[in-house]
Amino acid sequence: MLLKDIIGQSAVKREMCRSVQEGRIPHAQLLYGPTGIGKLPLAIAFAQYVACKHRTETDACGVCPTCLQYSKLQHPDLHFVFPIVKSDRGDVCDDFVADFRKMVLDNPYCDADDWTQAMGEEKKQSLIYEKESSEVQRKLSLKAFGDGYKVMIVWQPEKMHLACANKLLKLLEEPPEMTLFLFVSEHPEQLLPTIISRLRPVPVPRLTEEEITRTINAQLPNVSSQQAQDAARLAKGSYREALRILDDKDQDKEMFTQFQELMRNAWLVGVRKNYDALQNLNQWAQQMAKDKSRAEQCAFLQLAQRELRENFIYNYGEPQLCYQTGDEQTFSAKFAPFINERNIEEFTEQFARAEAQIMQNANSRIVLFDLCLQCIVLIKK
Ligand SMILES: [Zn+2]
Repeated sequence: MLLKDIIGQSAVKREMCRSVQEGRIPHAQLLYGPTGIGKLPLAIAFAQYVACKHRTETDACGVCPTCLQYSKLQHPDLHFVFPIVKSDRGDVCDDFVADFRKMVLDNPYCDADDWTQAMGEEKKQSLIYEKESSEVQRKLSLKAFGDGYKVMIVWQPEKMHLACANKLLKLLEEPPEMTLFLFVSEHPEQLLPTIISRLRPVPVPRLTEEEITRTINAQLPNVSSQQAQDAARLAKGSYREALRILDDKDQDKEMFTQFQELMRNAWLVGVRKNYDALQNLNQWAQQMAKDKSRAEQCAFLQLAQRELRENFIYNYGEPQLCYQTGDEQTFSAKFAPFINERNIEEFTEQFARAEAQIMQNANSRIVLFDLCLQCIVLIKK
């Protein structure tokens, strides 16, 4: 990972490079700041800069054998400590490191949620266990592979078990020669004060809106510059958050298309008496049940309830109360007349009931097809 590939953070990079050139690299540093601003990729790029023998004033060379190993996060003197959820797969970081590398390479701005998801352990508590401190000790007592530093990057040290923290503290107090500890934390206030006092603080600031917009424009060609600006404005300086906002937008758009499809076909059957469209509805239900998780199906049903409400309001000529995108308004111009005081209540009830049934593990295909049939009846009211 090269420093030039990291968004913004020029002041931090400059100071890091200077410390290397002046031969005064603090042996233990704490990069801290909010989520999604690039602390972890900065730590990795800095370690690579330190290790590269052909570095320039501002970056590693990117092509020497050391840099090539670093580009895969596979250098033998580069070690990672991160929280894990113990499972059959193992109980120390090495058992999970392949997944960790993959996640960081795919998405250097990853956060704690990305990681639990990558482990397949959503919503479970992850920890750095006591056993990890022995691993760290063992790794640092080995002879370095090259003649450079052994680097230990500790991601989310705030999730460290107290026993582990105390053992690490000993290492920080009497560090083996040529070791470089880089702690990367979102919650430094949760670290032991004794540990903090051993670390050189490196505050990493939020990114600017311009930096985020420019990066989205350069890396995501499918996103319009207006969308990029909107996401950057809402992301509060976090590139990860900006990506998440763009993702959600995509999902909303897809769900809206599915809503249109459902309503158009219900209208074809109910109002136009085109019974061929019944087959489309059957397929629609089948596909929703097959392709989407239960959580996604529920998210769709919630969106549908929102859309119905918006269309009811639209129909009554109060557009200032509608929160619709351009696409939604174009659709509403034709669709809204079919949502009225005779059916709005029952429409929303049917969608809410389907949502509850799916949450209670009912057969999604049956629930969704039944919902289609209800829509056919209600849309002609
Ligand atoms: Zn190099």
